[in-house]
Amino acid sequence: MARRRPDRPPALLFAGGNGEILDYPGLHMAGSACGRFTLPRAEDLIELPEGSELFVLPGRLPVGIDPADGEPALLERDPYENTPINAVAAFMAPAHTAILSAAYQSMEDAPLLPLFAYSAVGWHDDRFWVAAFRCDPDPRQDAARFNQQAVNRATRALLKKNPTNRLIQHLGKCCLTYGCPAARNYFLGRWEAPLPTSPVCNASCVGCISLQPSGCCPATQDRIRFVPTPAEIAEVAVPHLQKAARAIVSFGQGCEGEPLMQADTLERAIRLIRSASNRGTVNLNTNGSLPGAVDKLIRAGLDSIRVSLNSARPDCHERYYRPKGFSLDDVKHSIRLMKAAGRHASLNYFVLPGFSDDPDEFAALCDLIEDCGPDLIQLRNLNMDPELYLKTVRRPGETANIPMGIRAWHAELSRRFPRLCFGYFNPSLNL
Ligand code: SF4
Repeated sequence: MARRRPDRPPALLFAGGNGEILDYPGLHMAGSACGRFTLPRAEDLIELPEGSELFVLPGRLPVGIDPADGEPALLERDPYENTPINAVAAFMAPAHTAILSAAYQSMEDAPLLPLFAYSAVGWHDDRFWVAAFRCDPDPRQDAARFNQQAVNRATRALLKKNPTNRLIQHLGKCCLTYGCPAARNYFLGRWEAPLPTSPVCNASCVGCISLQPSGCCPATQDRIRFVPTPAEIAEVAVPHLQKAARAIVSFGQGCEGEPLMQADTLERAIRLIRSASNRGTVNLNTNGSLPGAVDKLIRAGLDSIRVSLNSARPDCHERYYRPKGFSLDDVKHSIRLMKAAGRHASLNYFVLPGFSDDPDEFAALCDLIEDCGPDLIQLRNLNMDPELYLKTVRRPGETANIPMGIRAWHAELSRRFPRLCFGYFNPSLNL
């Protein structure tokens, strides 16, 4: 069935003084590519996916497109009440990649935005529209797939059955307090289960979601405070790998630091897991910083790796990760080791329209793909204040190139690397 499209440009959205979200048909919805405002194309618009949220952006005025001349136009006050307003953005459900970010102009004293992604959203035909596409058909984190009563029942039962396993107790909090989809799938006994292990990290990412020492914006979940034993890890992983559909267990979660910092524990855990079951996939989500540790885990039986990457340009990578004792070369070496061993490698690539599709970034990414040969790029939206991000990764006074456009960027990557896959989730390799 042909995907529904709006029959004309959606209207701009703004938030009134009480946070109520209203549309203003006097201006069309606009999208931003790092401050370049454009009218989204009809073919780039999809209905707001179920499970998404709408955010009011404090200290920011919405930018729309004037139907009269097609130019960007600022909406400074409520057109109905002449009162102060704020811009609005969509935080999309998993498996969706933004083509354009929310269009707004920040006021001088605008507070920093918390660690979420801010996509362009408009209103038409009694529904919200976003400039985005679904990049992965896998339903594992679709809101409709979670029945909260079933999640609560299954979680409480497993917590009661495993009172001494600290890792299971930790995942119970992730599931019931933070609503982590991976933890929920673990307790429901399906798909991908999380194995957080590390309280520490050898980087200090500006957008780290588990630790924000500067206090600039709150981390979205607390970091694990202990290193589970290989036995505690295996007690989570083995039953899951033996029974779950399309079973995956993944080290490296949002509630921890860098798992490679616990390489000895991970090596013993993987050997323990694989001595009990060869079913399913043992995956590592990582910053890729320690190739020696990756090599050790390959020999223990690691099946796949997902390396997080904000940029394929060494200077932008360094300014974002603020690494302690490693560089992008080490990260690339880790990917090459996985491929040399015939294992699976993904990039967890943070997409920001206007930055990721900058021709210089595109060229650097192509070089990395040619050099390292990853199998899959997971198209994750960058989850932080885009203005702080650009201030961090760009040199002072650096002017950006004209972006390719996320659609053209995606199409050109596919053309150059026909065997390269795109998605959002870690693939299940061994059934
Ligand atoms: S590598 Fe991960 S855990 Fe470490 S600082 Fe970056 S986001 Fe945080």
